[in-house]
Amino acid sequence: MNELNRRTILAGTTALSAMALLPRAHAQTSAPAGLPARGEFVIRGAHVLSMDAGIGDLTSGDVHVRNGEIVAVAASVNAPNAQVIDGKGMICMPGFVETHWHHWTNVLRVFMRWDDPQKTYFPITFKYGPHYTPDTGYRSVRLGVCEALAAGITTTGNWCHNVRSPAYADAEIQAMLDMGIRGRFAYGNPVGLPNDKPIDLADIARAKKQWHGKDGMMMLAMNSRGVDNAFATSRGAIGPDMAKHEWAEIRKLELPITMHTSGIGGIKVLNDNGLLGPDVQLIHPLNTTPEEREALAKNKVYYSCSPIGEARRPAPIQFGEMLDAGVLMSLSIDHITTNDADMFKNMNVLATVSTQQLLRMKSKFTSKQMVEMATLGGAKDLKVDDKVGSLKPGKRADLILIRTTDVNIAPIGDPYDALVTFAQPGNVDTVVVDGRILRRGGKFVGIDQPKIMAEAMDEIEKLKSRAGS
Ligand SMILES: [Zn+2]
Repeated sequence: MNELNRRTILAGTTALSAMALLPRAHAQTSAPAGLPARGEFVIRGAHVLSMDAGIGDLTSGDVHVRNGEIVAVAASVNAPNAQVIDGKGMICMPGFVETHWHHWTNVLRVFMRWDDPQKTYFPITFKYGPHYTPDTGYRSVRLGVCEALAAGITTTGNWCHNVRSPAYADAEIQAMLDMGIRGRFAYGNPVGLPNDKPIDLADIARAKKQWHGKDGMMMLAMNSRGVDNAFATSRGAIGPDMAKHEWAEIRKLELPITMHTSGIGGIKVLNDNGLLGPDVQLIHPLNTTPEEREALAKNKVYYSCSPIGEARRPAPIQFGEMLDAGVLMSLSIDHITTNDADMFKNMNVLATVSTQQLLRMKSKFTSKQMVEMATLGGAKDLKVDDKVGSLKPGKRADLILIRTTDVNIAPIGDPYDALVTFAQPGNVDTVVVDGRILRRGGKFVGIDQPKIMAEAMDEIEKLKSRAGS
């Protein structure tokens, strides 16, 4: 064992003995205890990329925030009572909005390998998933949200395909709220649910009442098992009749629906059964036909693209074809078990693997459009663009500052090219969610990351013992 691991484990042991005295994690109240208050501050002299067509970019601009709301974005703002944050040498932009991430699997990163077929995502999630308790979910979500915030992600689409009980769903949602991140919880089946059994529709209705819109930070959705039979053993696969039944019930609740469709023919099945619509998000639609892409565009379905994971699949990412067909797209992390939570890298990988394809396409694509997909595009996909996704008076203050003076990025020419080509999470200096400054100078404020890490490590040991490994 190296020194770093030994120290981490020792720190973990101390934190764990203190933790035994605390109430059960999932029984905590929804108040984000310990998070910094929303105050009034003004970021001065930053290179502002507002992602708002009316405001545009300001090479030196100010952003004024009060009580969680953006009150002004301009070249110079009068805010005499506001705390001043020096934005010189920084890009100020909306926080990243990633649109699908299986947070329940975050702690499983210690077991997985992308280069060993026995230890990839599905064998490992299938092995450990049935042994999850609400505490496992709570701690796993918090571990991943630390990484998200550190990487400048201010909204996450938590896609849970292992909801084991109502208490389990509550624990994951509570973890998101406790971390101060904005998000959507997509409620799905537990791992191992027989394909002929519906998911717990009554509890989705209950969870909607309890959590949807909570503190303005939480949205609910339903995740559906796939209809294309891909990965049927682990994530479930249903026929069109089950999909029609479940989707109709969810639509009565006016909740959006999200589904993985990486196999062949899934979109055709959905389209033939009249199931597509603007309330649908599809994850990794690879292998699509021209007719399927046309159906996606016509029905305003969002494609949540996870470039790093998709670039490892046998079928190519059809980015150019999707653009030519007019399909709406957003970017997502998927999981952090064999990927990390780096939206810069995801933008870069998508641009890189698509370069040759785009040369053959009608559509042209710029770095600015890529950044727009990673911010406003994600907000539109998750239906939170009335609140976030751009820097504009009246919107909530979800924003990040990125240092442009660091060695890997300086000096910057076009700021969008710098973000797509050079930037990395280590350049993210400041992270603000709903007006709370959760990271400053690259360090957490009001979030005890070592404690969260210790809890995750403790949970991994418990999980191993329950799974008999
Ligand atoms: Zn996924």
